[in-house]
Amino acid sequence: MVIKMAVVGCPFEMSPMYEGERIRKDDLYVELAGPKSKGFEIVRSAEMNEIEDGKVTLIGPDLKEMEEGSNYPYAMIYRIAGEQVEPDIESIVERRNHDFQNYIQGYMHLNQRYDIWVRVSKEMVSKGLESLKQIAEATMMMFKNELPFIEKIEATFITDMTEVEKELEEARKVYDARDTRTRDLHDEDVDTFYGCTLCQSFAPTNVCVVTPDRVSLCGAINWFDGRAAAKVDPEGPQFPIEKGEVIDELGGEYSGVNEAAVRLSGGMFDRIRIHSFFEYPHTSCGCFEVVGFYMPEVDAIGWVDRDFKGTAPNGLPFSTMAGQTGGGKQVVGFLGIGINYFRSPKFLQADGGWKKVVWMPKALKDKVVESIPDEIRDAIATEEDAADIESLKSFLQEKKHPIVDTWAAEEAEEEKAAPDVAPAEAQAMGGMPTLAPMQMPAMSLTGGAGGGLKIILSNAKITVDKIIVKKKE
Ligand code: SF4
Repeated sequence: MVIKMAVVGCPFEMSPMYEGERIRKDDLYVELAGPKSKGFEIVRSAEMNEIEDGKVTLIGPDLKEMEEGSNYPYAMIYRIAGEQVEPDIESIVERRNHDFQNYIQGYMHLNQRYDIWVRVSKEMVSKGLESLKQIAEATMMMFKNELPFIEKIEATFITDMTEVEKELEEARKVYDARDTRTRDLHDEDVDTFYGCTLCQSFAPTNVCVVTPDRVSLCGAINWFDGRAAAKVDPEGPQFPIEKGEVIDELGGEYSGVNEAAVRLSGGMFDRIRIHSFFEYPHTSCGCFEVVGFYMPEVDAIGWVDRDFKGTAPNGLPFSTMAGQTGGGKQVVGFLGIGINYFRSPKFLQADGGWKKVVWMPKALKDKVVESIPDEIRDAIATEEDAADIESLKSFLQEKKHPIVDTWAAEEAEEEKAAPDVAPAEAQAMGGMPTLAPMQMPAMSLTGGAGGGLKIILSNAKITVDKIIVKKKE
């Protein structure tokens, strides 16, 4: 489908074929919002008589007044009305801004809410794109075409920093109010979860499952949003998933979710444990707000969010780990989540929940500090306490983090299990917390190879698509 713009004066095409378009630094006219500035997007519902359909207001400099190669703040505020429009659907309409704007040639939109990051290409500007109003009009046209329950829509785009900051404060109150809605509802209280395939355009095997106790990893869709979306737009990207039988309550594994995993991932995955980091974890598309990373040296998990500009104790910044995690995969050792999942009473309960967490950036820790159990709060390090693995280990020992007790237990276990380790190997391993066993598929070696074979994997990351074991002729 290629839609040649019907909006007067628009030089660009809109089509899903532009969705994966990346605008590199050299091709960039301007960058809007993103890590070097501020911004957000929000959709609010209103009464029919409050909306002037199609109206666009721009506050701040327009594209043609912007300096090439610069960064500007950027807020996009849409107000919608219609007989079926209610506050419950604001989030899911808001999330569609991402895919509709990515249909625009020469315009790249990343992330959601207060994390948006937009780039406009030089090529589009040279072809005649001169105003953000053109972008607003094109996006509103898509909203009305694709979501017919929107009968009226108007937009306010802002590129003035003072105004963006002022409106962002208000927007944060709305996001917070949405996030608190699910606090009293839990997975066991409902028979239906909700799935979302919006991100399959760039992560084709991604299976997003939204439950009362697990917000979407983009953070923009909670269980109520999924329910409202499925109701008003039954053909849309959000849909019900019947829970089915409980397979593992602690891990959050359900027969209905597993069936959906097979269907939605094209057969790539057949099990998902919603509250597990290590075993059949939820897939990660790329829109996650936070990445979790396993540190075998301390047998525990750290978290890093998009706003953190430094490197985590494993020596990696968010961007590197995000690249490792995304793409719609189940990656043992990395996991993308939405910030609100930290507040869930079922937060990674299959792995010990907060007891398995040892590091997070200070700003992120401050955001969720009320959800961290009292007894562990001070024992979770930030960049101010630990910048690398060695300083992290010392901090955890000093603060008596519960993970430290497991090191001794694992060391004892290891000694019992491997009494014949050569002296040189034993010395190399001395004093190190041992690597927790990763979940490996059961494998038996036959044909006479079962005895005398010992494989030691240390600090290894291995991806295997297929193992073929053939009998020796
Ligand atoms: S991250 Fe998941 S819930 Fe959010 S838009 Fe993408 S597919 Fe949907």
